[in-house]
Amino acid sequence: MSLEQWENKARAFAQRLTALLGPVPDVPSVMRDECINVSRVGRLTVEERNVWWGQERIPLLVLYDDAGRAPRSAVICIHGHHGNRYVLAGLANTTEDEERIRRFGYDYARQLAEAGFLTVAYDLRGFGERPFALNPKGHDPCDMEFLRLMLTGRTLLGLHVWDLRRVIDYLETRPDVRPGAIGCVGFSLGGTIALYGGALDRRLKAVGVFSALNHYTHYAIGAGHFCGAQVVPGLLPEADLPDVASLIAPRALWIEHGDADETFSVNDALLSIEEVAQAYRRQGVGDQLGTHVFHGGHRFELGESAAFFKRVLGEGREGS
Ligand SMILES: [Zn+2]
Repeated sequence: MSLEQWENKARAFAQRLTALLGPVPDVPSVMRDECINVSRVGRLTVEERNVWWGQERIPLLVLYDDAGRAPRSAVICIHGHHGNRYVLAGLANTTEDEERIRRFGYDYARQLAEAGFLTVAYDLRGFGERPFALNPKGHDPCDMEFLRLMLTGRTLLGLHVWDLRRVIDYLETRPDVRPGAIGCVGFSLGGTIALYGGALDRRLKAVGVFSALNHYTHYAIGAGHFCGAQVVPGLLPEADLPDVASLIAPRALWIEHGDADETFSVNDALLSIEEVAQAYRRQGVGDQLGTHVFHGGHRFELGESAAFFKRVLGEGREGS
């Protein structure tokens, strides 16, 4: 297949994916943004904000090191199942959140801000300050929300991607964010959302997927390690998750995975990486794909990814 044929196929697949993810909220295109509080945490400034589209509210934290000079490259941080914006920022409010940071390395919005980026941590719908209307005992709330949304043809993953794109909209209004230098990273469920967001929104110039890349046929259908937040109805007959990840090419993609991950197997991660690497090689942009396997289980490891994001997005700490 020629490069042109491959690009046409990728474009058609992206359109198909958008359709499979279902309708998105019908809200005013005008965003409202409010700052709730600004504080100092260590050497970081932390802004607590809400961004609104009609009744849709995304609560978020913006973190940056004042030692750096604006405009900065920006990284949107997407949490995994049971996370929230405070855990991402390293500001645990409960002992459970403290445990999440210790066990899963969850405070990556803080880690990347300390590395020189402006970072955003926001609550995914269903977590933090955005609980679902239905939360019956014995069910994963994402599963119930997925079923509820299916009645109107929508998907929970489609709404997660919509939220991510609205956070990009917000960042584009900030004068302290370098134009064209926005990326996103996610761990576990957050990694899945980062993959889809990166595949469908070309404003994301770099994507980081941490402990999340497997085939659905393996981790979901085979092992049952999934929930309603990750399901795209009708995807599998034509594609799997590495095909979604491949849509990010030629933009930058970092894939990090633990060799003892008990949720997403490392063997399937390596098979998935090879498929994605083929897509990058086909476009002649092998240097835009970074991969690393660390020694450990299902957790976030920053590793060499900060250096990679600095290379592809631009240095995040000028003048310091
Ligand atoms: Zn869930």
